[in-house]
Amino acid sequence: MEEILETATDGLDAAALFSAGTGLTFDDLIFLPGYIDFSWSDVRLETHLTRNIRIKRPIVSSPMDTVTETQMAITLALLGGIGILHYNNTIEEQVAMVRKVKRYENGFITDPIVLSPLHTIQDVDRIKESHGFSGIPITEDGSLNTRLVGIVTNRDTDFEKDRTRPLSEVMSTDLVTAPVGSSLSEANKILRGSKRGKLPVIDAEGRLVALVARRDLLKNLNFPDSSKDLSKQLLCGAAVSTRDEDRDRVDALVEAGVNVMVVDAAQGHSIYQQRMVSYIKGKHPSVDVIAGNVVTQQQAETLIHAGADALRVGMGPGSICITQNMMAVGRSQATAVYRTAAFARRYGVPVIADGGINGIGPMAKALALGASAVMVGNLLAGTHEAPGDYFYENGMRVKRYRGMASLEAMAQGGAKRYLTESTEPVKVPQGVSGTVVDKGSLVDYLPYLMKGLQQALQDMGYRDLPSVHEALRDGRLRLERRTPSSTAEGSVHSLVSYETPRFGIR
Ligand code: IMP
Repeated sequence: MEEILETATDGLDAAALFSAGTGLTFDDLIFLPGYIDFSWSDVRLETHLTRNIRIKRPIVSSPMDTVTETQMAITLALLGGIGILHYNNTIEEQVAMVRKVKRYENGFITDPIVLSPLHTIQDVDRIKESHGFSGIPITEDGSLNTRLVGIVTNRDTDFEKDRTRPLSEVMSTDLVTAPVGSSLSEANKILRGSKRGKLPVIDAEGRLVALVARRDLLKNLNFPDSSKDLSKQLLCGAAVSTRDEDRDRVDALVEAGVNVMVVDAAQGHSIYQQRMVSYIKGKHPSVDVIAGNVVTQQQAETLIHAGADALRVGMGPGSICITQNMMAVGRSQATAVYRTAAFARRYGVPVIADGGINGIGPMAKALALGASAVMVGNLLAGTHEAPGDYFYENGMRVKRYRGMASLEAMAQGGAKRYLTESTEPVKVPQGVSGTVVDKGSLVDYLPYLMKGLQQALQDMGYRDLPSVHEALRDGRLRLERRTPSSTAEGSVHSLVSYETPRFGIR
């Protein structure tokens, strides 16, 4: 048996490092290596997003209009994280996104879109366009819980020239169904045997109660770590502002099935935020609330007492953010994460490090300093799943990425986060708009980030986040301050040229 000597200590514990009264950034510090007696693949990344919600990968996408819409939220949840849909849109638009995420990968689709025999092929076309699926069950009167009379699939409609024909004339009536009460695996067995795309689930009277989709079955197999609720729907988050008028938005999002809500404010220590958090927790206790943003223990205390189930930490570190320069307020992010996490832990409230996470290294540092998850904007902007189209800039394939308090986003309503109106004639921006490079699909990129994170935790000597957090608290996790020259030493140097790896060097 190998001997681990534990008498020699080196470096500092976090309490000592952060007690100097100087704000530290991720680049200002480095962890000393721990002892490795396990493989990187043994490292577990499962974490608490909020008091009540656990996810397999500690990554959350920012509620920004160039980062999180339906596609990002779906893919990130499939890969074990969670997306927070932005609110720079109408209530209807945001609600429609939530519905699409919640409908996406269901074991049983309990609220399928249903049509009646009197609807036309045009109605099917419309649904295909807005929801992206066909294979629609037809019931007597076009609603759920009435008698199933047919099903319409692409095969029934693809070659039909007259799109005004009623579905009664084209639907398939040779139905394969599953009885209500079937387990998912029973339903899947029937689906496999039938070679069809959709399996209606009916009750004893032949009324449609749910639908099972082959596509979902395939996806379930491909994404074993996906973030799901008890009814097997993907987890979905959505942001709202602190304004009273957004209470309607809250109610509509909850009705659409949102699992977690982010109360979005650049400076979360306000009476408005307290009121919004209390409103959500009072009216919708089953929905978890992530409150913020905070960077101090006082701010954290206020929001925890208001009912926050998690805190979003960061004021100024975002890649598109100019808040610290413009407002003279904020905090260096490593210090903010360490201090707020140490405080919130006493209440069992997880902390999400938000902003400035531009690679694996900063992600590992934020988590090791006490965060339970990281929220990222820049890192995921530029992936296929982020909103917006690619274009070329200086020979590089890029997508737009903008701060929600950039002049551009504010003109569209993003100003709500900053307690100002988009209609006010004078605007003081706290963010910029720009571009980020094409990072390919999240489906390739996220596994790369997560493997890197597993290897970082392995180098620290810990197999999971709770163990790192425990070591952070009891002083076993050692770290040190870096000088600017040590940061330079730790980066690429002394080369005439070098090839940057595909996903960068952080
Ligand atoms: P990034 O991952 O470093 O790009 O930071 C993203 C974070 O920046 C978001 O989650 C927000 O907390 C914050 N943020 C978004 N828009 C703005 C802005 O316009 N000004 C300042 N901070 C912003």
